[in-house]
Amino acid sequence: MNKSWLVTPKNTDFSIHNIPFGIVKSSSKNPRVASRIGDYAIDLLALYDLELLNGLTVERSDLDVAHLNELMRHGKKGVRALRKRIIELFSEGNTELRHQNELHENVLLPISEVENLMPVKIGDYTDFYSSIEHATNVGTMFRDPNNALLPNWKYIPVGYHGRASSIILSGQEIHRPKGQQKPNESEPPVFGPSKLMDFELEMGFITFDGKPLGERISTAEADDYIFGMVLFNDWSARDIQKWEYVPLGPFLAKNFASSVSAWIVTLDALEPFRVEGPKQDPKVFPYLEFEGNKNIDISLEVLLQAEGAEENSICKSNYKYMYWNQCQQLAHHTVNGCNIKAGDLYASGTISGPTPDSYGSMLELSWKGTKPIRLKDGTERKFIQDNDTIIMKGHCEKEGIRVGFGEVCTKLLPSI
Ligand code: CA
Repeated sequence: MNKSWLVTPKNTDFSIHNIPFGIVKSSSKNPRVASRIGDYAIDLLALYDLELLNGLTVERSDLDVAHLNELMRHGKKGVRALRKRIIELFSEGNTELRHQNELHENVLLPISEVENLMPVKIGDYTDFYSSIEHATNVGTMFRDPNNALLPNWKYIPVGYHGRASSIILSGQEIHRPKGQQKPNESEPPVFGPSKLMDFELEMGFITFDGKPLGERISTAEADDYIFGMVLFNDWSARDIQKWEYVPLGPFLAKNFASSVSAWIVTLDALEPFRVEGPKQDPKVFPYLEFEGNKNIDISLEVLLQAEGAEENSICKSNYKYMYWNQCQQLAHHTVNGCNIKAGDLYASGTISGPTPDSYGSMLELSWKGTKPIRLKDGTERKFIQDNDTIIMKGHCEKEGIRVGFGEVCTKLLPSI
């Protein structure tokens, strides 16, 4: 097993097997492209200036910038070569950086001394609905328990185009949104702060530049167009959603905020954790067929922390449960010729598992408010209250190798 000469905390999400990408700044350094190992950010611009990234396609201007979009233009091949080189520099036995203390200080920045910025200028944002457990739960609650899935669901990786402007980084607080709701069937709608605030436990993938408009990306090609993944909390106002979603789908119930984690974990780092997905029955259309294991075993957890109180683990799920995988999502997205670009974000949809403690939203966990969740401080939650913080974590682990995402953490402030 590859090890690093740098001491990293046991069970860190950011082992030498990870080497994700992000943007950091510090009191003395402008925003720049970075990676992370253990409790250090790796300043890639500093590595470049030390001529330790020679021979790669990456240029200084790709790193001296406050987003990863320039780097992403090098595509899978360029980013893979860069990541391999970083792994090489930190591997046990490599002395290029190790034996030069003054170089350490400029390259390795204690994570407590840097601030993460939004890693990507997000272009287009699409949200799928690809968890069969989630779609079944929602269909059971709101339609017919005996016929929960809509007729299209097992044929189409259902999705909608969302809004990129309100995607925020972990750590940024949000306010409870206001909007129209219709709490009583027999009375007119009302306007005010949402009373049914919810999270959605999701993962997102970010793409490289795709093909020209009019061309398709096949399931076999899809991985080559995916840069990496993040944790994604798709904030949802259920009461606003219920009143507005017919006939065109979610709108203001969703576009006030969605939160992402700071470090983009590459598909290369996730490759060892591939697993087989659920059996798809009926047989999918040929353009959605795929070969090999395309699901990924990523353990997911949601924690709720009330103001001044302890964290409560309220959900444990896994990305491996997804019915439709990323390759199918991307193949479907482009089958009509729709083009994709570097920096586009594609979210999975709520990731629910088979058991009630693995449901990926409050809507499901509290079953529409009928089964409140009891917290350690004795209070109950049906939905999210003001000043609650929602924390999502995710990691892969196999044969002593751990690769994780850190967390996406967002506090809900009162309405303004
Ligand atoms: Ca969603």
